[in-house]
Amino acid sequence: MRYLILSDIHANWEGLEAVLASARGEYDEILCCGDLVGYGADPNRVIDWVRENIAAVVRGNHDKACAGLDDLEWFNPVARASALWTQASLSHENLQYLVNLPQGPCPCNGFELIHGSPEDEDEYLISIEDARLVSASVRIPLFFFGHTHLQGGFALQAAGVRRLTKVPLKEMEMSLALEPGVRYLVNPGSVGQPRDGDCRAAYVLYDSAQGLVRYRRVPYDIAGAQRRIIEAGLPPLLAARLSAGV
Ligand code: ZN
Repeated sequence: MRYLILSDIHANWEGLEAVLASARGEYDEILCCGDLVGYGADPNRVIDWVRENIAAVVRGNHDKACAGLDDLEWFNPVARASALWTQASLSHENLQYLVNLPQGPCPCNGFELIHGSPEDEDEYLISIEDARLVSASVRIPLFFFGHTHLQGGFALQAAGVRRLTKVPLKEMEMSLALEPGVRYLVNPGSVGQPRDGDCRAAYVLYDSAQGLVRYRRVPYDIAGAQRRIIEAGLPPLLAARLSAGV
C-alpha cells in the first residue's frame, strides 16, 4: 500500500493544493497526523476536503482548541486569536467534525498515527533526548507524528537514538529505507506552516510493501496564503512567518 502522509495543514489551502499536485498518482490512501486548522485562513475548505479524501486522521492540539475542547490558557496570544477566529468561522458540520476527531494513536497497516508523542498527544518531540525519554512507548516499528512542524524524526536502535534529517534546501526529495530491528518516529513536516527553516510545504510518501519513506518538499503560493490571512483579519505575524519557514 502506498500512503500520502500529511501533518499540520493548519488551514493553508495553497500549501495543501501544491502537495496534492506534487504527489498525484503516487499514493493509494491519504492519512493525517492532525492540526487541520488554526493559523491559516481556509479552515472550512480544508476540512471539507479532509472529510472527502482522508482515510484516517488523529486530532491535533489546534483541532482540540478550535473545537472548544480545550481552554486556550496554554496558547500564546496569536495562536489564541486564530483559534477563536477559526471557531467562529467554521460551519456547524465542520465544527462537529473537529469535535469528533479521534485522539491518537490511530493504528493503521502495521504503523500508527499520533500527533505529539506515543504517550501524549500534546507532547513535543524535538530533541534526541525527547525521543529517548519516550522510547519505552515506541512499541511498534513505525509511528508517524507531527506537532513540531519539523520534518525528519528519529530512529531508535540498540546503539541509541539517531535524528532523521529533512530534505536539504536544494533538493525535492530524500529517501529513508526502513531497516529491520530499528523503530522509527517519522515526522512528515508541516503542510501549512513549516518551522524548520524551509518555507516549502512538507509531506511524506510511505510504501509499506517496500519499507520505504520518501520525505518531500514542494514550493507553493506563499503570497496567496499570506494575502488570505491578512484579508481574514488574522494576526499579520501568521502571514509573515510563512515566507521565513519558522
Ligand atoms: Zn501544528
